[in-house]
Amino acid sequence: MGGEGLTLCRASFIKIEFNYKSSISISKWVEIIIMGYIDLHLHTTASDGVLSPSEVVRYAKAKGLQAIAITDHDTIEGLEEGLSEGQRIGFEVIPGIEISAEHSPGSMHILGYFLDIHHPFLNERLGYLQKARAERNPKIVQKLNQLGIDINFDEVLKASGGGQVGRPHFANVLLEKKVVRSFQEAFDRFLKKGAPAYVDKFRFTSKEALHFINEAKGVAVLAHPKTLGINGYSELEKLILQLVEEGLKGIEAYYPEHSSSEVAQYKTLADRYGLLMTGGTDYHGMEKNGLDIGVGRGEMKLPYSIVENLKAVRSRSLLGR
Ligand code: AMP
Ligand code: FE
Ligand code: FE
Ligand code: ZN
Repeated sequence: MGGEGLTLCRASFIKIEFNYKSSISISKWVEIIIMGYIDLHLHTTASDGVLSPSEVVRYAKAKGLQAIAITDHDTIEGLEEGLSEGQRIGFEVIPGIEISAEHSPGSMHILGYFLDIHHPFLNERLGYLQKARAERNPKIVQKLNQLGIDINFDEVLKASGGGQVGRPHFANVLLEKKVVRSFQEAFDRFLKKGAPAYVDKFRFTSKEALHFINEAKGVAVLAHPKTLGINGYSELEKLILQLVEEGLKGIEAYYPEHSSSEVAQYKTLADRYGLLMTGGTDYHGMEKNGLDIGVGRGEMKLPYSIVENLKAVRSRSLLGR
């Protein structure tokens, strides 16, 4: 994209949308004051978050948010608890999920909102992912043991607090045992892709993931496009076009790690392909340096109108348009 195009699209972005990572935007604040603010990307103990679903819901309400979506990795196990806590305390909770899809060189995550959590096909697909995860996890233990580290699966299970077991729980055990000095060191030395204790696990293709999200009446949104590992605009556009054909409805443009120019790029794509712009903090609990629910690292407040847009898209899809 040329310099002029970028200036133009950034200018219109500031005028039409609420401002993001910029000093003052009166319209943004008026909207947030009137309608409230939201967070559409959160993890709980059902996957690799620190707070239970009920705790996340109560925390969001106490912080003054208007609505949240719970989007655990590959599981909806926390949703029933989160939804009923929301009902109990009078707080809007959107049932969601974050599915890891096949992609390289980076990672592709697809969010699904307003899922029918009892949908049989969704539950069957997620059951398959659980099985793949259950097969992978002991292999990580084995690899760590081969590297001379004293660790067993029960310790990891305990660290997971009864929810789905993921690599962050391995990292926490390694930290507890003082094998590493930080959570990040555990990933860098042992657990990340290409590291000596990394074991790959099955992922659905984007087409498959988008299919079952749509079948379960969910609205599918590409999570944090930055992690796709795509640099050029045209390559990203090609992928977005493919995903739209496969059933994508939105882009998670607002995300703590996205720069203003990346947000502007996602807005250009969203406008061009009729996609929603959504956002969330990816809050996992207290462990992520200074990142909090609803605000990220302080720059993130997003208005409730994003939820209304999601609901409008869902209604349209249900009507078969
Ligand atoms: P799993 O689904 O069990 O493979 O674990 C994936 C989770 O591990 C992600 O959702 C992140 O929370 C975390 N994670 C993955 N890669 C890294 C990394 N390089 N550094 C820190 N955390 C990571
Ligand atoms: Fe995570
Ligand atoms: Fe993610
Ligand atoms: Zn996430």
